[in-house]
Amino acid sequence: MGGGALETNGLTNGETENSLHRQFSPAHAALDNSLSHASDAVADHDVPAKRARLQKELTFQDMYQNEGVFDEDDEDDSDWEPFQLHKCVEFEIKKWCCRNCTMINLDCNDCCYICGEHRESKILSHGFFASPLAQDDDLIEVQGDIKGLKDVGSQKSVANSSTAIGFDERMLLHAEVDKKSPPHPERPDRLQVIAASLSRAGIFPGKCYAIPAREITPEELITVHSLEHIESVEVTTESLSSYFTPDTYANQHSALAARLAAGLCADLASAIVSGRAKNGFALVRPPGHHAGVRQAMGFCLHNNAAVAALAAQAAGARKVLILDWDVHHGNGTQEIFEHNKSVLYISLHRHEDGKFYPGTGAAEEVGSMGAEGYCVNIPWSRGGVGDNDYNFAFQHVVLPIASEFNPDFIIVSAGFDAARGDPLGCCDITPSGYAHMTHVLNTLAGGKLLVILEGGYNLRSISSSATAVIKVLLGESPGCELENSFPSKAGLLTVLEVLKIQMKFWLSLGPIFVNLESQWRMYCFQKKRKQIKKRRRLVVPMWWRWGRKSSLFYFMNGHLHKKSK
Ligand SMILES: [Zn+2]
Ligand SMILES: [Zn+2]
Repeated sequence: MGGGALETNGLTNGETENSLHRQFSPAHAALDNSLSHASDAVADHDVPAKRARLQKELTFQDMYQNEGVFDEDDEDDSDWEPFQLHKCVEFEIKKWCCRNCTMINLDCNDCCYICGEHRESKILSHGFFASPLAQDDDLIEVQGDIKGLKDVGSQKSVANSSTAIGFDERMLLHAEVDKKSPPHPERPDRLQVIAASLSRAGIFPGKCYAIPAREITPEELITVHSLEHIESVEVTTESLSSYFTPDTYANQHSALAARLAAGLCADLASAIVSGRAKNGFALVRPPGHHAGVRQAMGFCLHNNAAVAALAAQAAGARKVLILDWDVHHGNGTQEIFEHNKSVLYISLHRHEDGKFYPGTGAAEEVGSMGAEGYCVNIPWSRGGVGDNDYNFAFQHVVLPIASEFNPDFIIVSAGFDAARGDPLGCCDITPSGYAHMTHVLNTLAGGKLLVILEGGYNLRSISSSATAVIKVLLGESPGCELENSFPSKAGLLTVLEVLKIQMKFWLSLGPIFVNLESQWRMYCFQKKRKQIKKRRRLVVPMWWRWGRKSSLFYFMNGHLHKKSK
């Protein structure tokens, strides 16, 4: 093994570290296990309507006083403390591995404590395309139900269709050789369940068309990666199994899969910029946004979004926006473009003062060497971030900056690991939330939008989320209305921090910052005043009013009442 790849085993660091951040949610446990409803959106349609109705009646100042209404718990983040393994070991007898999200569960539980999937789930057989590589007994029973993925990849272009899909079944061959328990979360099943969901919805094959697969050339890759990096990926074809980092594996087919993923992204970008396709979705793996100039890491080999951005510019796009909504910061993409004013990189991700993988992506990282302001990081300070915070950041940071930048082409680094139920991201974006973000981006750059799959490890979440996004690409309405949703306190403070830093580079942010900050100060002032008033009233005991101190009680209350006005 050469070129920097290591022959080691074990998921001991990197993205998988974050699987230690866990949350139990009764809502997740109650998930419907019916396979026929696997691709349904998980959001309760009544809830957004109820929220919207209630929110219209509230002011900015009092919105945080309705904790029950918004189901927020901003003060107490104890749910997000790292899982204490010693407790698990103490009571462990037998364990089972969730087929939907790969998490290990205790034998006493019939449903996964992360995603609610039943232990006997046939998610990889009935209703989905089963993996031809998986050693699953269910496959024998339902052999007749399994459709070949070739049928999807070889579909001819659909007349009048303008949304292109990039997919090739050879990307399924990239898999970890060592079978472990739990299995590696970045697994071939991810692509298969999304393809199956699109097929069931009549989208692909059907309303979208497939572009021919092509392997990226070394000449194209060298514009993004160092020669040493390219060689280190290619050399993995000579070994049965190799590792770039303890959690970034390769087998003999990984280099081919990485070349296909990057080639499909480059060709989709060219097709959209040249007008041959209206927009596109790259259903590809291995993912790419952690891959930097000279290193593979975080499950990523080649940086597909970076390759696509340069292909778009070669096809005529002058300015490219890369919007990264994967729950992890795209450190590789940031590194590749941090000196480049023609590519604006905006990322929303968990950061938590650098404690969340990969640790980069603080708001202060704005680009360098004349490209300051062309890197915009929106770093969440906690887990559990949902549609309301993402929508708030889109309205107050992403949309104003993107409008001012005025891109010719937009790439979405679309990890779905901030989706509700994801075992690594532990956030709360619904399929409707992803659809809404896609809808907002679709208003820019004349709708020239390429969505590239990055992370996302809950099979049901990624299939329903990707399907919701592609429906918007096809022109459907995003459904739920999020315009009036309010952010959590933590989300608002993150947005204020980003605005304060980025307003030096983007003129449109100044008035937004002043307005939001004054509202926030007013809210803090009124809250403090109420607390002081409450404390003062408590100084005078209530029983004074019925005893010989009654006159003193009324005097004190009246006096304080006047004073506090
Ligand atoms: Zn699970
Ligand atoms: Zn990720």
